[in-house]
Amino acid sequence: MNATAIDMASVARALKAIGGVIGSQNVFTSQEDRVAYSDHYSADESTHEPSGAVAPQTVEEVQAIVKIANDYKVPLWPISRGKNFGYGGSAPVVKGSIVLDLTRMKKIEIDEKNGTVLVEPGVSFFELYDYIQERKLPLWLSVPGNSWGSVAGNALDRGVGYTTYGDHAARICGLEVVLPDGDLVRTGMGAMSDSPNWQLYKPGFGPSWDTMFCQSNFGIVTKLGLWLMPEPESVMGFNIEVDKPEDLGWLIDTLAPLRQQGIIQQSPSIGNWLRAAATLTLRDEWIEPGKPLTESVITAIRKKFNIGWWGVAIRWYGPLEINEATTRVVERAFNGKPVMSMTPTRWVRGDAPEGSPATGVPVSYPLANANWFGGRGGHVSYSPVLPTDGNLALDQYRRTSALYAEYGMDYHPSFAIGERHMTNVNQLLFNRDDPEMMKRVDSFMRALVKDATAKRYAEYRTHIDYMDLIADTFDFNNHALRRLNERVKDALDPNGVLAPGKSGIWPANRRSNRA
Ligand code: ADP
Repeated sequence: MNATAIDMASVARALKAIGGVIGSQNVFTSQEDRVAYSDHYSADESTHEPSGAVAPQTVEEVQAIVKIANDYKVPLWPISRGKNFGYGGSAPVVKGSIVLDLTRMKKIEIDEKNGTVLVEPGVSFFELYDYIQERKLPLWLSVPGNSWGSVAGNALDRGVGYTTYGDHAARICGLEVVLPDGDLVRTGMGAMSDSPNWQLYKPGFGPSWDTMFCQSNFGIVTKLGLWLMPEPESVMGFNIEVDKPEDLGWLIDTLAPLRQQGIIQQSPSIGNWLRAAATLTLRDEWIEPGKPLTESVITAIRKKFNIGWWGVAIRWYGPLEINEATTRVVERAFNGKPVMSMTPTRWVRGDAPEGSPATGVPVSYPLANANWFGGRGGHVSYSPVLPTDGNLALDQYRRTSALYAEYGMDYHPSFAIGERHMTNVNQLLFNRDDPEMMKRVDSFMRALVKDATAKRYAEYRTHIDYMDLIADTFDFNNHALRRLNERVKDALDPNGVLAPGKSGIWPANRRSNRA
C-alpha cells in the first residue's frame, strides 16, 4: 500500500513531547523497537513498520498523547497487547504511525455477584485467569484458541472463544473511550457518573455506542466491561471426528438446528486434519519441501495422530441434569450418522481442570501452527461469513481447496457455527524463508476474496494489508456504509490522528491513501 508519507520531523517532535508526559523510558524509538512493533508474520516487516511506540499507564496520559498527536497531526495506532497475529499483530496500516501501546494499563475490577469484569486494555487472558484463580472466584473466562493477547483488544476486534460466552464482542457491556479529540466518554449506563449499572445493562439511554468502537478507528478504549460465565456445575459434550471431506455437509446440517434452537450454545468449530496436525508435527517429516501433500501423506498423518478429515468439539455448560438431558438429545441427532468417532466428555465441578479453551483456560500452543514448514512461519487469515448450510459449506470447501491447490498452499480451514451463520476461517500458512511461496501469498489472498465476493460472502475480519480490499466488497448503494463511516470519522477525527485505514476507514486528510 502506498501511504501518504508521514512527516517524520513532526513525529520526532510529537515523540519528544509525549516523552515529557509519560517519561522517555516509555517511548520506544530504536530500530529494534520499531521491528518489535512490526508485523512478524508478514513477508516484509518493513511495510507496516511504525516510527516508534509509546506506552502510557493512565487515561489522563492517553488523553495528553491524543492532544499531542492532534497538535503535530501525526497518526496513532492503538493496541491493547498487540498479539493480533494473522491480522497484523501490533503493526499499523500506515507505515510510520506511532503505536499507542496500552499494555501497561492493567486494572481489573470484578463484580463477583453479577459476573462482570471491568478491564483496562493491558490485561491479558492469562492475567485475568490468574486473578480469578488466586481469589477462587466462581467465574470462567472465554478465551480464544491462541490466548496470548488481551481481553479488551480481542473483544474489540471481534475475536471468538469456545464457551457459551465465545462471541466476545456480544458480551461487552459498557466502555470508557478517549475520543480522537481527547474527550473522554463512558457508554451505556456509564454515562451517568457512579452508576451501579454500567456493566449490567447494555443499551443505556438513547443510541448505544459500544459496537461503534469495535473494529473501528473512532476512539481509544481505556476500560471495557465484559460479562463472565458463572462457573457451571458441569460441562459435557462430544469430540467428533469424521473420515471424509464430504462428511462436512451432513455434520453441519446436524449441528445447525441444535445451535439455532439453543440446545448447543457455544460455537462448534469444525477444523480439518491440518488444523490439528499443524500444531503436532512438521511438514518435512512427511514429504519433501515444495511437493504438494498427497492423499497417502494425509492418511499417514491422520493415522499417526488418530484424527478425522474433519474434527469438532461440542460442549454444553450447566447443571448436571440439564447437561445429561442435552447429551441424550445430541446423541439422538447423531443417531445413524457415519461418524468416525464420537467420544463423550464429562467434567463435573470438583474434578481436575480440563485445561483447555473449552473450559475457559488460556493456552498458546495453537501458535505452533506457524512452525508447520519449520523455520520462520506465519499466516494470514481468510474468513468469509456464510449462511449455515451443509451444501453451501461443501461448495465452499471444494472451491477454496481447489484454489489452495492451484496456488500450491496447504488447505487449513475451519467452519464455526453461529446461531444463524457460519464463519469459515482459513489460515494461509506460509514459510517466510521461502521467497517463492511468499510471492504467491498476495495473489492467492486476492483470488480467495474474489471467489467469496462472487458468492456475495464477505469477510468478518482481515489483515491490515487487506482492509481496503474487504471494505470495498461492501458495495451496496455505492458503498454507502463506507461513506457513513467516513462521515463519522471526519466529525470525530478532523485531523485524522487515530488509526487511519483501520477497517478501510480513512480520515479526510489521508483518503487518497485508499488502496
Ligand atoms: P490482542 O493483543 O488481544 O491480540 P490487539 O491489541 O492486537 O489485541 O488489538 C487488536 C486490534 O484491535 C488492534 O489492531 C486495534 O486495531 C484494535 N484495538 C486494540 N485495543 C484497542 C483499544 N484499546 N482501543 C481501540 N482499538 C483497539
